[in-house]
Formats: sequence, C-alpha cells, structure tokens
Amino acid sequence: MSETINQVLKSGSCVGCGGCAFAASGKMALDAHGFYAPQLKGAEYDSALASACPFLSPDLNEDFLADRFLPMLPHRDHKIGKYDAVFAAHAEENSFRRAGSSGGIGSWFAVELLQRKLVDGVIHARPVPRRGAEDPFFRYGISRNIEDVKKAAHSHYHVVEISEVLDEVKRTPGRYLFIGVPCMVKAVRRAQLRDGQMADRIVYTMALVCGHLKSVHWALSLGWGVGTIPEDIESITFRVKSNNVAAKAYYFGIRKRGGTVLEVHDSAPLTGGKFNLGAMMPDACNYCDDVVGETSDLTIGDAWLPRYALDSRGKNMIVSRNPELTALMQRADRDGRIVIEPMTAKEAADAQSGGFRQRREGLAHRLARRRLGGLWVPIKRDLPDMVRPGLLRARIYDLREQVSVRSRKSFRRALDQRDLSVYEREMATTFKQLRLMEIFASATRIASVRLRALFSRRRS
Ligand SMILES: Cc1cc2nc3c(=O)[nH]c(=O)nc-3n(C[C@H](O)[C@H](O)[C@H](O)COP(=O)(O)OP(=O)(O)OC[C@H]3O[C@@H](n4cnc5c(N)ncnc54)[C@H](O)[C@@H]3O)c2cc1C
Repeated sequence: MSETINQVLKSGSCVGCGGCAFAASGKMALDAHGFYAPQLKGAEYDSALASACPFLSPDLNEDFLADRFLPMLPHRDHKIGKYDAVFAAHAEENSFRRAGSSGGIGSWFAVELLQRKLVDGVIHARPVPRRGAEDPFFRYGISRNIEDVKKAAHSHYHVVEISEVLDEVKRTPGRYLFIGVPCMVKAVRRAQLRDGQMADRIVYTMALVCGHLKSVHWALSLGWGVGTIPEDIESITFRVKSNNVAAKAYYFGIRKRGGTVLEVHDSAPLTGGKFNLGAMMPDACNYCDDVVGETSDLTIGDAWLPRYALDSRGKNMIVSRNPELTALMQRADRDGRIVIEPMTAKEAADAQSGGFRQRREGLAHRLARRRLGGLWVPIKRDLPDMVRPGLLRARIYDLREQVSVRSRKSFRRALDQRDLSVYEREMATTFKQLRLMEIFASATRIASVRLRALFSRRRS
C-alpha cells in the first residue's frame, strides 16, 4: 500500500515544511504547540502527495535528488554528500560578519548573487511583525534588495513553511536563490521535480546546517524566561554576538513591544535554553538523516572546530556542490572580500559531530525501537554510520525525545495558566537528568579517545 500524508501526521514525522500544501493548493497553520501542520482537503490526506513530502517516497531521497539537480562532482561522502569543495570562510567586506550568526557568508552570498544579477530575489526566513501572543516571529519572504537581505541576517531557530512563498514564486517570474534548513531544501527539490516552473525559477539553493528546528514557543520561553511575557515580545534575534562570548554560545536579543533597546541574554541558564537539549523540537527532526542539506548547491554552517572555537567573530564551514559557486567564492577571496581557509571533508563532518551522532546513531536506535513496537516509520537511507548505540547513548536519545514531547505540553500548560513556573517546575528534573547523562557520556568519550591514543603510541 502506498504511504500517505496521514501516516506522516499520525506518526509525528511531519516537520510542517508546507511541501504538501504547495502541491495541493492547501494551507499551513500553526497548532497549539507552535508547529506548522497542513490543512488539506479530506481526500488529500490519503492521496499521492507523497512525492511532495520529505518523509515519504523514499526513492526520491537525498542521494537521488543530489544526482538529479547537482552536476557530476569529484567527491562523495556519506556525511556531507556530494561535493566540489569544502572550506572555512568568513565575510571580510562590509558588516556581514558582525551582523551574521556565524561568519556572515549567508548574507554576503545572497547579496553577491543579487549584485551580480545572478538572481532577482532571495527566498529566506525574515522577521515579521507580530500581533498575537503566539504569532510567529519569522516567515519565508522574498528579499529583492541588499537592505532587505541584510535585515534578515542571523539564524532563525524557529519553524517556517514554504507553501505561501512558493505560491508567490509561481505568480512572479524571476530567478531566485532559496535558503533553508535541509528538509526545506529537500521539499523545494521535490517541488522542482513536479513543477517545471519551480525548477526554472529557483536557480540556486543554499542549505543551513541544521541541528533541529524549534517551535514558535521556544522563542516565547526564552523571552518569558528573562521576564517579558509572550504578548509583550516584539521580536527575537538568535545568536547575538559579543566580544567576550565564545562563537558557540547561544546569546539572544529580545525587543519588548514599543521598546527600542535589544536586551541581550545567554539562553543556557534558562529552562530548555540549551539548544541541544531538544526542548520544543518537532518530532520529525528525530527522523531526519540529512544534517548538512545534501541536495543544495551550497551548504553553510558554523566551523565548530577547536581552532575557531574561541573566535567570537564567527567562522563558517562551507560545502560547495556547484563549481560555478566555488569559483565565485574563490574570486572573492582573491579580491580580499571574503577569507577562505582550507578545511577537509572530515573536518566539516567533525565540526558537526554532535548533529551526526543524533541523526545517524540516534536515528538507527529510534527506527529500530519504533519498528519493534510495530509503529510506522519513514524509510530512511541505509548509511554506514547508522550503527545502533550502546546503552548509555540509547538512554540519552530516548530522554531527548521525551524532552521535546514533555516540554511542548508543559509549556502549553504554562501559557494557558499564564505562569512560566509551571514549565520551569515540570521540566526541571528531566532537563537535569539529560544534562548529567550528556556530561557523563562526553567525559567517557574523551577518556576513551585519550586511552586509545596512549595505547597506539605505546605500540608504535
Ligand atoms: C534551525 C537551525 C539550526 C541550525 N543548526 C546548526 C547546527 O547544528 N550546526 C551549524 O553549524 N549550523 C547550524 N545552523 C546554521 C547557523 O546557525 C548559521 O545560520 C549559518 O552558519 C549561517 O551563518 P551566517 O553568519 O553565514 O549567515 P547570516 O549572515 O546570519 O545569514 C543567514 C541567512 O539564513 C537565513 N535564515 C536563517 N534562518 C533561517 C531559517 N530557519 N529558514 C530559512 N532561512 C533562514 C537568513 O534569512 C539569512 O539570509 C542552524 C540554523 C538554523 C536556522
């Protein structure tokens, strides 16, 4: 029997990308937990919209889409996909680096394509005005000039959906760059497979490396955690930089309604504020194996390697899958407009080691556990690093899943009772337990690496 959107929804694997709503001229709406869900006509939930959904039609997986949309490339790696070149980089010209989350290449690259008239518009998540307490902070939109691209800089750790903006692309001829996390790029590739206009108009795609998405409520929980009630939060900026703050820190800025000051805070001490704990993550992120956006022309993320860890100015890791874009960046490096430094494919994967553990080892565990329980799971690629973990790590993966489910329910109760302490109290033990297990697991990992190095030195 063919698989359906209904199965994806019931199993909690819907990431709310909007691919199916675009294909079926439906809509996307936020649910009570701040996640997007499709609103389709009755029969469509059981229909063959499968090729639109990133979690269905396993034949149209990342490998297939990369081969279909990207040129023949010299290298292929099971972690970072096909690639032409890998490097570390940051923007040197203008204020892109200071204004961005990482090395500023995201906004620099979008502006570069606009200035060179290689595209007419940039499709990306942008801050939007909010009226209601639970309204979204960001939506997809099209920026057609440099100022608008710059205004949207930073990582928006927040759900977005593509159906509205792809409708706009359909109504408005032109050439576009699409920016998004891996599942969104995959959904766009699927749209391009079915719709020639999408293939002609979206001429470049740029993926942001992705740990996981967060609901609208995560932003509310941070703002509320530092004293601003949800209805008073005008805007949020994630990954605000500061001179004395490590590149990897998650500082955020909150602007109160009517206020002019951006109050900057560290998210780590707040309940669920440590990004990797997985608070208010969609369940779908548990069923994704694409950390870097393997179907995109260019991937950008953070170069989280020891040699860059202390640089508070930010440094990108870049994977180019398009020789034309590799050459564009190399030219800009020669002109001193950006700085490119060598990085190997292994280093790029190492820079995202936590993400790969969660999405490969963790995924192998989750799939096996659900199958054992007779539950439906999306069919994933058979990748060499999808090896089932030992007991400790398996327990960590289970606890992370519990965190995302419990946190969203608990925060809903806090919103309904207008009392943040409900969330803080209910989640305290689970977060603490997970944190302690993670610290123990990483201490064990470091010790075993050191011991192996010691033994191999002795042997030689
Ligand atoms: C949900 C999420 C999870 C991430 N997880 C990781 C991770 O685990 N490891 C890692 O190395 N990097 C991760 N990143 C990417 C990283 O945070 C930076 O966004 C990236 O390195 C680009 O930084 P920059 O300074 O070059 O870009 P900037 O100059 O800040 O520009 C970023 C561009 O991306 C667009 N954008 C931001 N968020 C979104 C979004 N949600 N959807 C569509 N467009 C968006 C902006 O509009 C802007 O055009 C994540 C990003 C997101 C949104």
